[in-house]
Amino acid sequence: MTDLRIAIVGFGKIARDQHVGAIAATPGATLAAVASRNASLPDLPHFATIEELLAKGPPIDAVSLCTPPQVRRAQAAAALAAGKHVMLEKPPGAGVVELDPLIAMAADAKRTLFATWHSRYAPAVEPARAWLASRQILSVHINWKEDVRVWHPGQGWIWEPGGLGVFDPGINALSILTRILPKPVFVTAAELAFPSNCEAPIAANLTLTDIGGLPVTAEFDFRQTGPQSWDILVETDRGRMMLSGGGRRMAIDGKAVAEAPDEEYRELYRRFVKLAVTGASDVDLAPLRLVADAFLLGKRTLVEPFVD
Ligand code: NAP
Repeated sequence: MTDLRIAIVGFGKIARDQHVGAIAATPGATLAAVASRNASLPDLPHFATIEELLAKGPPIDAVSLCTPPQVRRAQAAAALAAGKHVMLEKPPGAGVVELDPLIAMAADAKRTLFATWHSRYAPAVEPARAWLASRQILSVHINWKEDVRVWHPGQGWIWEPGGLGVFDPGINALSILTRILPKPVFVTAAELAFPSNCEAPIAANLTLTDIGGLPVTAEFDFRQTGPQSWDILVETDRGRMMLSGGGRRMAIDGKAVAEAPDEEYRELYRRFVKLAVTGASDVDLAPLRLVADAFLLGKRTLVEPFVD
């Protein structure tokens, strides 16, 4: 079988930090080109836009879209129309419904559309899901607080409409939540804090539940300095589970039970290569739907302006 020849589109922080290394480490995948307005990689064909890549580039089978969510739908549509498999960074879109025509295009063309949720591939997520499956869950609390200046320096798009603000990392927690809980949850209330100069929230508190009335709360904050928190605490009838480090570590009643090196992006590319063999798609919109409902239901407050 020949390698899946992949072009990265949007060569920013996550492309550099994770995608290049993960593609290099994935059997059956080759990085074939980069399309990015300003950035390139030595020794690789470079194009300013995806249109130029598709028109004049070397032969490729797939694109990995690492651009901000607001521009990804049009890029995905162009790539699918050109017969390419498409991998989407999270969140899969700037809106929920914009994914529908992409899903249909991919199915018609028998090409893969893979909406990735990297945090679901963190090493303790599946052990947590398995542990919870045989317990009665009593409550869940998400504490997801990071310093936006450290993790998203100069990323103006995050504060624009469709950029999601604090939900850009918060949706990672929701992607884990929707994987580990046995029943679907939905949002019942939300409080969103918007900096007076921004179009997206800097902090959010969510109340969620499931059909059985499970109490679930989430605190997201981009203003955290000092220790950072990417934790999900689950109380059950037989112990308290703490999933910390964004899904990398699991402890039961304070005792560590699962911890492993981060292979999230390698897992994503392994899955992409596998999906592309048959042109199957994997698009789960559950985390994005929760964020959309938080915006629909959210009580808004204005807070002090954000200066990067
Ligand atoms: P980033 O550093 O801003 O990189 C995105 C790149 O896309 C930019 O460097 C830019 O490259 C290009 N771009 C920006 N605006 C564009 C536009 N209007 N049209 C076309 N290209 C544009 O952002 P990032 O942190 O890599 O995040 C990208 C996506 O990955 C986001 O959805 C984010 O949620 C997700 N993600 C990020 C992280 C993280 O830790 N940073 C982790 C997981 C997932 P050019 O100027 O060269 O075109």
